[in-house]
Amino acid sequence: MGTAVRGGGASKEGRYRQTWNLDSIFKGGSGSKQFAQFLTNTETDLSTMKMKLEKAAAKDAPDPEEWAYAIERLQTVGMKVREVNAFVSCLTAQDVHDKEARRLGGKTKELASLYRQLFSIVDEQLLQFTDAQWHAFMEQENMKKIADNLQERRDLAKEKLPSEQEQLIQKLSTDGYHAWGELYNTIVGRMKVDIREKGIKRSYSVGQAANKLSDKNRAVRRHVFRQFEQAWENEAELFTGTLNHLAGFRLASYEARGWENVLKEPLMINRMKQETLDTMWETIEHNKSLFTEYLHRKAELLGVDKLAIYDVSAPLTKEVPQVSFDEAADMIIEQFGRFSPEMAAFAEKAFKEEWIEAENRDGKRPGGFCTSFPIREQSRIFMTYDGSASNVATLAHELGHAYHQHVMNDLPYMAQGYAMNVAETASTFAEMIVADASVKQASSRREKLQLLDDKLNRSVAFFMNIHSRFLFETRFYEERKNGLVSQERLNELMTEAQKEAYQDSLSEYSPMFWASKLHFHITGVPFYNFPYTFGYLFSMGIYARAAEEGSSFEAKYTELLRDTGRLDVETLADKHLGEDITKPDFWQKAIDFLKEDVDTFMKLSEEELSSKK
Ligand SMILES: [Zn+2]
Repeated sequence: MGTAVRGGGASKEGRYRQTWNLDSIFKGGSGSKQFAQFLTNTETDLSTMKMKLEKAAAKDAPDPEEWAYAIERLQTVGMKVREVNAFVSCLTAQDVHDKEARRLGGKTKELASLYRQLFSIVDEQLLQFTDAQWHAFMEQENMKKIADNLQERRDLAKEKLPSEQEQLIQKLSTDGYHAWGELYNTIVGRMKVDIREKGIKRSYSVGQAANKLSDKNRAVRRHVFRQFEQAWENEAELFTGTLNHLAGFRLASYEARGWENVLKEPLMINRMKQETLDTMWETIEHNKSLFTEYLHRKAELLGVDKLAIYDVSAPLTKEVPQVSFDEAADMIIEQFGRFSPEMAAFAEKAFKEEWIEAENRDGKRPGGFCTSFPIREQSRIFMTYDGSASNVATLAHELGHAYHQHVMNDLPYMAQGYAMNVAETASTFAEMIVADASVKQASSRREKLQLLDDKLNRSVAFFMNIHSRFLFETRFYEERKNGLVSQERLNELMTEAQKEAYQDSLSEYSPMFWASKLHFHITGVPFYNFPYTFGYLFSMGIYARAAEEGSSFEAKYTELLRDTGRLDVETLADKHLGEDITKPDFWQKAIDFLKEDVDTFMKLSEEELSSKK
């Protein structure tokens, strides 16, 4: 692959279309009759299933065959619910003004909640099976394939309170737990950040202001950052309340279940051991000097003594050429092919069959995602492509997600459910392949430096920023056990956590980060932080292995991905990589692999600095 990757931006008339084809899934957009029909069918299926499950549950002696059949059917309904959800998220993302799509969004939430209710009937039954009945049930042919998943559900149900009490917690959580998260969003939604631009004061939404934090001009960044912090400070009293109460509710439910460790739930959800988590962080800590060295060098390149927190992801240069969509597609297909012909063929199919919505136009939702249609066995990728190198990486990232789903398509639906920590494995892997190739192909030193800076910036985000969130959150939850935590204390805990995580390498921190980071206020999943770092570094370890083994690694990689929906991460790594991830070795190898990037960066930046003198 050579010079073809240069050239002018994202042109609309290329070989590959930049708008996705949703008609090939359901014809007619949000007004689709075909979709309306499918939605009605799914609703009917859900209520039929509810009746069947209740009938089966009412029997004195459960019939293993009847339950096995019900769970088989339930998986089919689950796929339908997911299909509905995927279609509606595509509709709402492609046009934020589509009111009908928004209405359908409300409908899909109802379906998902109904589906969850069905599973609570199942969980109750799993718990009530006597050992003999349980074995008879698990001996059913179609249950053997999802044995791990059923066992997991049963174990989890055992850890919880009796079903009536759990249901009461669920009911109370609508107003007593999730409501705090919603209140947070409401306050954030009406917040304004005042920013002075060319002498004129303007008010921006939090999201708009956040985008300006990565402005290439340092004075602008600093001004925006200070105004941004002030805006959160102004509402701190309310946020102190939302965070304390949300955490209080969570801790009260943990206490009722007898769960002392606040990490118990997130570890269970992510199918990992505390030991693994501890070892991962310890290994990262041991290697931090590598990344503080990089931060100091970046400070030098930007002409400051020490970086402030708002400088960490600032760009070094603008000298990175644009890549057209077709060129990005060609490059991704070619680079994937070096690791896995199957992955390359899959990516080509996604481009050819118009699975990707990449057009740069108004009215689209920001951000990117990949969503899958389990019945049609197709995926759709959403993003806004503007031709930057990070866009090419995002495109590869989302294709990685789609490929993950692709290799799992023939598995039972229950065995397809993977957690957040491994969800990012295939995506990060795909992204690394392409980011590495971009660095290799860079035509100038400055361009190469910028591309490496993008990569190292990600490492710093996972090893330092996310680490500070983890330190803050675990400490805050411990203190919260003894009562409300004041705003002053929250600021203190946050600053301490940042200083520790960045090893004092920054000149200015963000004390209000506990309020400005949405993740602390998410109630759907607890501890929305360490799974990111795990996913990144786990994937890096796999990538290091793939680079070593070459194309013979393809089959192993596919098998590993296929097991992500049923095995805990320790077993997964042992079975497919022969690695014990409760020990530092694996993690160290992954970091050593990144060390090469740091070394190259240090060498090139040295040259860059001396050329300026
Ligand atoms: Zn992702």
